[in-house]
Amino acid sequence: MKPVAIIGGGITGLTAAFKLKQLGIPTTLFEAADRVGGVIQTIRDGEFLAECGPNTILETSPLIGDLIRDLGLEDRRIYSSEQAENRYIVRGNRPVKLPGSLLEFLFTPLFSCRAKARLLMEPFIRRAPADEEESLAKFVRRRIGREFLDYAINPFVAGVYSGSPENLSVREAFPALHALEQRYGSLILGQILGAWERKRKGGVSKKDAPKFSFDQGLQTLTDALRHRLKDQIRTGQAINKADRQNNSWSLGQAGDYSTVLFALPAFRLAELQLTCGSKPIDLSMLADIQYAPVASVVLGFHRGDVAHPLDGFGALNPEVEQLNSLGTIFSSSLFPGRAPLGQVLLTSYVGGLRAPHLVTKTPDELCNLVREDLKRVLGVSGEPTYRHVFVHRRAIPQYDVGFGRFKTLMNKLEQNVGGLFFAGHSRDGISLVDSIVSGHEAANRIADHLNQTT
Ligand SMILES: Cc1cc2nc3c(=O)[nH]c(=O)nc-3n(C[C@H](O)[C@H](O)[C@H](O)COP(=O)(O)OP(=O)(O)OC[C@H]3O[C@@H](n4cnc5c(N)ncnc54)[C@H](O)[C@@H]3O)c2cc1C
Repeated sequence: MKPVAIIGGGITGLTAAFKLKQLGIPTTLFEAADRVGGVIQTIRDGEFLAECGPNTILETSPLIGDLIRDLGLEDRRIYSSEQAENRYIVRGNRPVKLPGSLLEFLFTPLFSCRAKARLLMEPFIRRAPADEEESLAKFVRRRIGREFLDYAINPFVAGVYSGSPENLSVREAFPALHALEQRYGSLILGQILGAWERKRKGGVSKKDAPKFSFDQGLQTLTDALRHRLKDQIRTGQAINKADRQNNSWSLGQAGDYSTVLFALPAFRLAELQLTCGSKPIDLSMLADIQYAPVASVVLGFHRGDVAHPLDGFGALNPEVEQLNSLGTIFSSSLFPGRAPLGQVLLTSYVGGLRAPHLVTKTPDELCNLVREDLKRVLGVSGEPTYRHVFVHRRAIPQYDVGFGRFKTLMNKLEQNVGGLFFAGHSRDGISLVDSIVSGHEAANRIADHLNQTT
């Protein structure tokens, strides 16, 4: 049997390759860069530990625990501290704790009395027709009002997608929210009944799912996968062409394969020259998937130079507050071993679709923009003791209204072109859990395909 080719060595491609290895299916993984891991990259600098990309994994699928166990990483996983349950949203230059209970909600200064009263109307608002695709902003304004859009949804979307609620499709980007309305007719009733159903089935909501990293950061995971896959990995080898001939895929000088799995960003998929026989397969429309640019600015400070207790996950900045950054993670409060004793580490994000031009600033300028915000919001004074800036020009794909047409294209090609598969954040969700599940499921589809064809 010819081996399987996996193109792209981010967490999706690595997970798929590892699963295929466990199934005993020969596989080669091609990665354009000189390292695998994709956007996951951890920098250890003395006693500081900075994440250039993602910071935490949300354990919402049992597949995550299985992967960590199979890689022998259970002892190295660290769950976020209890205080990380606190989340702050900035209002009037001040971080306000997001309410965690009904009582806290009633007394929080985050929302006005009028906005709280408006929420009581929510169960009586009619659901949208199932076939109507709404933007997240329209959905939220319709169901819970403008103020919740500004002070809850807008900052949350900046934290997850670095995007805009005006563009994101509620159905594609937040399918669980869309399903709540469609199923229960109300978000509030849906929350209550959904929690009751989950309890009955032993499930876990995203809100309650444990968050974790590793003692040496998230790159521990991709390093372990690289170590297990060793000589199956070819780094520094971009694959831009593939041709299907006589039931196999030719990757030119890279050889012939039974099957190819593309685990690439959409803008790279769009550039591929794919042919089936001599017929071209056109993926160019995937270039229309917009990516938000993001700069990660990681700064260390003496504890005494920060007025805020940093007793939480971090603080998100609503657009209406007109700050320079999207928000800040209190990295050294989340996990131990991120900063030396007596110091703290803060990870802020700049840019997104809110201010894409900012990512073109120099590292010094980016640090200054973040320091202005940290001074205003968290009372940070003094010079940073550590800094690391990393710019992702195309960081996070936006599942905007109309995104379904891209998914349909990839799904149709998988069904109609033998041995062609897709996985990863271009189609299957933007979080690390989504990518791990996507890689795992793609490996299973490939195994089924090979069983049927050989
Ligand atoms: C700044 C930032 C913060 C984030 N924070 C979080 C977080 O805290 N929690 C969370 O759950 N998610 C987070 N995410 C999202 C999550 O990290 C990503 O969705 C996930 O890592 C995507 O993995 P992937 O393998 O699909 O893609 P990528 O990591 O993009 O990997 C794709 C790989 O393909 C390679 N490649 C490209 N072209 C070719 C080619 N022609 N041939 C061969 N190889 C090629 C690339 O070099 C790359 O290594 C964050 C993302 C970013 C950018």
